[in-house]
Amino acid sequence: MAANNENRKDGGFNFPPVGNSGRPMKAPKFNSYWMFIILAAVIIGFQFMGSQTSPVRTTWQEVQEKMLANGDVEEIKLITNRGQANVYIKPEKVENYSKLKANGFTSTSAGPQFYFKTGPQDVFVEELKAVQESVPGAAGVVLDYDEEYDGWANIMSWLFPIILLVFIWVFFFNRMSRGMGGPGNVFNVGKSQAKLFDKDTASKVTFKDVAGLAEAKQEVEEIVSFLKNPTKYTKLGGKIPKGALLVGPPGTGKTLLAKAMAGEANVPFFSMSGSDFVEMFVGVGASRVRDLFKQAKEKSPCIIFIDEIDAIGRARGRNPNMGANDERENTLNQLLTEMDGFATNSGVIILAATNRADILDKALLRAGRFDRQIYVDLPELKDREEIFKVHMKPLKVAGDVDVSFLAKQTPGFSGADIANVANEAALIAARRNRDEVTKQDFLDAIDRIVGGLENRSKVIKAGEKKTIAYHEAGHATVSWLLEHAHPLLKVTIVPRGKALGAAWYLPQERQITTKDQMLDQMCSLLGGRAAEEISFGQVSTGAQNDLERATKQAYAMVSIFGMSEKVGNLSYYDSTGQSDFSFTKPYSEKTAELIDTEAKNLVETSYARAKAILANYKEQHRQVAELLLEREVIFSDDLERILGKRPWNDEEEGAAGNGESAATEAQPQEPAQNPQP
Ligand code: ATP
Repeated sequence: MAANNENRKDGGFNFPPVGNSGRPMKAPKFNSYWMFIILAAVIIGFQFMGSQTSPVRTTWQEVQEKMLANGDVEEIKLITNRGQANVYIKPEKVENYSKLKANGFTSTSAGPQFYFKTGPQDVFVEELKAVQESVPGAAGVVLDYDEEYDGWANIMSWLFPIILLVFIWVFFFNRMSRGMGGPGNVFNVGKSQAKLFDKDTASKVTFKDVAGLAEAKQEVEEIVSFLKNPTKYTKLGGKIPKGALLVGPPGTGKTLLAKAMAGEANVPFFSMSGSDFVEMFVGVGASRVRDLFKQAKEKSPCIIFIDEIDAIGRARGRNPNMGANDERENTLNQLLTEMDGFATNSGVIILAATNRADILDKALLRAGRFDRQIYVDLPELKDREEIFKVHMKPLKVAGDVDVSFLAKQTPGFSGADIANVANEAALIAARRNRDEVTKQDFLDAIDRIVGGLENRSKVIKAGEKKTIAYHEAGHATVSWLLEHAHPLLKVTIVPRGKALGAAWYLPQERQITTKDQMLDQMCSLLGGRAAEEISFGQVSTGAQNDLERATKQAYAMVSIFGMSEKVGNLSYYDSTGQSDFSFTKPYSEKTAELIDTEAKNLVETSYARAKAILANYKEQHRQVAELLLEREVIFSDDLERILGKRPWNDEEEGAAGNGESAATEAQPQEPAQNPQP
């Protein structure tokens, strides 16, 4: 979105200090880790210092036989709390003990120089008295009593491991938290991650940058006007809506619309993604929701935008065995509470975006929370034209580029796809050292986005190439001879992306699809394999993708669209997404068998039909394939020459191609994922 606050720098010195090398020296920045390093150094220092002149351990026997006998001892101090006695040697006698010298003791060092364990104290005192009486050198030894606590060293011995553990924990937590885009501070984990855009940091996007989407834009503009002039609506007794949900396929401009709203509303705008609430710690999500709403209420009137709300808004209680679910549910519950918790006129409006409104919790969608659902659909022809215009503005476009032609070539493209086409076209033009982006660059960009990168250097054997050519020619011939197949634009055997060849169609923009249309599409899908069988008497793995799609389509026709007479008008599609987590099917084993048989029948019938068409037009099919082998790319004109003009009016079907380039057949032929109402 708009300018990033983190990148802003405060005003500094004009003349930074210069080091010996002549380069400016950077003043070291304070870092909280320094504290830990200093602390560790102090602790180690203490331990090191302590160990240098610490008394040397000895035994009571050695004290009696050597030290007391020689008259070297000045004082014995009994440390009553430790069962230990410290021995103070007369300064002038220190030199006599090599052990002391090795430990750094000199005649001036303070004692005690030795210590030993006494055993029971009264026994020791008795024994000492006996020695003093019998040994002359021991007579003057002073006996004292004391208690001793280690102070620092003692405390540190148990404190140090704790500090070390805390340090490691904080270090890893901060690392992890930063990795997750978090605040990078253990104490901020429960704080909201929302980015705030206000007057100074407002997004530069305006409603003018959002092309098409007239209805969605109007709804959003109305919300902005609520915030700017609430009394206009409230004086008649109306209430400002609490929230609006933007729903639509990926890349259709939902986030863009929200950014434009942030740019135009002139009120603080909090933006975050649904996944920002989720962290590995329990309770963090709910705490972040609370914090977000607290901040928002302080800044009211304002807008909160939650992108990809399905990350937290998925219906509750689906798979109760999963631990992660509880945390998400807590977060959702908190969101529900907060959305209902503030007064209607408090001026906090929540805007959310999702690709899948069907899986959201019903409680989230009820009026009073998200009062409005705004559908942002894939752009129609007119909208695509406008989106092209927006994204072509920054480009140097040649005079031969016709925006409406490009819009016709891109059915099923989202706004994001179109933005990508414009950018890709500019890159292609630059690679070709052109001064302007031409129509051909745009067409190549569309091809690239639909089919992937051309891969001419791929090594393909002559035999394989022939199989590919006959396969693609099979698709082309069959679809040319079917009324409802998508109009063909070109056929190529130049490898592109993962495909070794492709028949390119211009998908028709249909609102509803009939059974005949679906059967024709399935037949043209199977045309490739049928061609292989008829021409070579054997089939190859090259048809895998076609078969996969035909199978999906057949099952969708039978179990979703109710297009099989035997199964009847039943649809087992669950638009609520509830069945995603269930292991049982909503039909009996018998029905499952029937669905399998019916789907198989559909595919087999279509395959037989494709084979029959190719058998009838065997010579023409061969010609198409040979031409393809020769030229690598052939267009609909070539097919018209070989197979004759199609007797059907494609324009009436809704197609709008003129034979130069197009989207692949992939887009409209996967109804299983995108059933039509
Ligand atoms: P998703 O659901 O995947 O998050 P989205 O609907 O939020 O997708 P955006 O992020 O808003 O999609 O759109 C992506 C890009 O597509 C935008 O940055 C913009 O360049 C372009 N775009 C999409 N729709 C439009 C439009 N109507 N006008 C202009 N540009 C558009």
